[in-house]
Amino acid sequence: MKLGIFSDVHGNIEALEAVVRMLRDSGATQFVCCGDIVGYGPDPNSCVETIRRMHCTGVAGNHDYGVVGKTPLDSFNSSATQALLWTRNLLTESNRLYLENLYLAADDGPLLVVHSSPSVPDAWEYVVTLREAEDEMEYYPDGICVVGHSHQPLAVERTAGGQARLVRQDSFKLRPDAKYFINAGSVGQPRDGDPRACGLLYDTGAQTITRYRVPYDIAAVQAKIRAACLPESLASRLELGR
Ligand code: ZN
Repeated sequence: MKLGIFSDVHGNIEALEAVVRMLRDSGATQFVCCGDIVGYGPDPNSCVETIRRMHCTGVAGNHDYGVVGKTPLDSFNSSATQALLWTRNLLTESNRLYLENLYLAADDGPLLVVHSSPSVPDAWEYVVTLREAEDEMEYYPDGICVVGHSHQPLAVERTAGGQARLVRQDSFKLRPDAKYFINAGSVGQPRDGDPRACGLLYDTGAQTITRYRVPYDIAAVQAKIRAACLPESLASRLELGR
């Protein structure tokens, strides 16, 4: 079976459709979303509806909970808060209920899915370094923890009794004696310097994980952000991938 894994869509339907198309073309039949479907971007309803139709295994991100009032708005910066208030106004009742009912963590076979960190999922900590990932790996027994939140792809492997190490390849084979901490990057607002949308393919038969970057129509999304009078920084950062 091939599983498509993605995160941090942030209301960017052009990027979401490009990633889902690529993952389906690569054989994905089931999907996992690590949270932050909404916030920042101009198309929150169509992103939630697309993900609902895909029957994704999903968890809540801080923006998903922020928009429904389960995470206080004072924990967000001003452009994020502006976008959340705008999103809150626009969201349909059934999409709002879908976000409100997302859990903080989900199990999907060998995968533990959380948005930020398995240690305290609702503290919304950023796990970006090898050391931080290694600490988080104490909080699940084995298998693979997939997260989002930082918008920066990351893969860390630790063999039993061994040291954790960064996995730098875009495609790698999972070792049966190792556990993994993997950040799926971001679909709708990458921040690792590569503006293309990010998605992962997990082949459970071959035991491989492959990271893809997918171009999409960034200018179309920027035009919608500007037309909605959302903060300009949310438009300009998309072409920088920062
Ligand atoms: Zn996010």
